[in-house]
Amino acid sequence: MYGAGDVRVENVPDPVLKEPTDALVRVLQSCICGSDLWPYASLPASEHGRRMGHEFLGVVEDTGAEVAGLGRGDVVIAPFVWSDGTCDFCRQGLPTSCRHGGQWGHDLDGGQGEAVRVPQAQGTLVKVDVAEDAALLPSLLTLSDVFCTGHHAAVTARVGPRTTVTVIGDGAVGLSAVLAAKRLGAERILLMGRHKDRTDLGREFGATDIVAERGEEGVAAVRELTGGDGTHAVLECVGTADAIAMALGVVRDGGVVGRVGASQYTEVPMDFGTLMRNITPTGGVAPARAYIEELLPDVLDGTVQPGRVFDRTIGLDGVPDGYRAMADREALKVLVTP
Ligand SMILES: [Zn+2]
Repeated sequence: MYGAGDVRVENVPDPVLKEPTDALVRVLQSCICGSDLWPYASLPASEHGRRMGHEFLGVVEDTGAEVAGLGRGDVVIAPFVWSDGTCDFCRQGLPTSCRHGGQWGHDLDGGQGEAVRVPQAQGTLVKVDVAEDAALLPSLLTLSDVFCTGHHAAVTARVGPRTTVTVIGDGAVGLSAVLAAKRLGAERILLMGRHKDRTDLGREFGATDIVAERGEEGVAAVRELTGGDGTHAVLECVGTADAIAMALGVVRDGGVVGRVGASQYTEVPMDFGTLMRNITPTGGVAPARAYIEELLPDVLDGTVQPGRVFDRTIGLDGVPDGYRAMADREALKVLVTP
């Protein structure tokens, strides 16, 4: 990406092993993230392009001398942040704060390409016992980011049986949050979204009510549906100031707001009124690597099918148009098969 709206597909040198902890992965599938749309809207123009893509799965082609447990031909999922798996943060379940970790893209390889040099491969990659052409691959790919992010919203907002939940946003993360809340046993799930094709999928994922109104009208609609109280948990999957304001408006007293939308605001209105209601704001970047083993069995046996968020598949040449289609809300989430 060379600037807002300027995505180009270019040939670059093939990646090579640089560190003994590296692996080389040939990408089978990757995708475009809602968070990629923020730079697509606002990245200042530059002569130095930024490599893109942080969600991918692929096949191991080669490994460095210090990589154990992975070998040529293994199908692997790469979470959207790489991590060593051994430092204190990783051991505490927070690989996104890994002391030796980092993010894909920028000057490192991005997932929206044919191959990636994976640093800290042993800590980062998760081997899955499936064929390279398995029909499950799109659902497995969501463990790279989007389904784990929805799950993180639900976990941090303490969703469980007997919890009522509002999900703000009918994008791929919001729909994943619905699926995650359902999986965790939520009693009732209100999905706030205006795109019927998306909220229809939300219903199939477990939403019990759809609220198309936004802002104060949206808050009033949720409150009316919940006896005036709002819901125990709110999963904020958009990231705008309007979305966080709605979240605080629909959360029940004593409730929790799990924020996973890429924040485009710097202030949360935690004023005295919010204090008096004992609202807990939480959430953050999803430590996807820490969730993959837990979520994997339900994906492998088809209990959940998070890959249904993909509604368009393109090759690498189609990536610039894929960004456009997601930015124009023409596509929900675009799958890339290099
Ligand atoms: Zn670590």
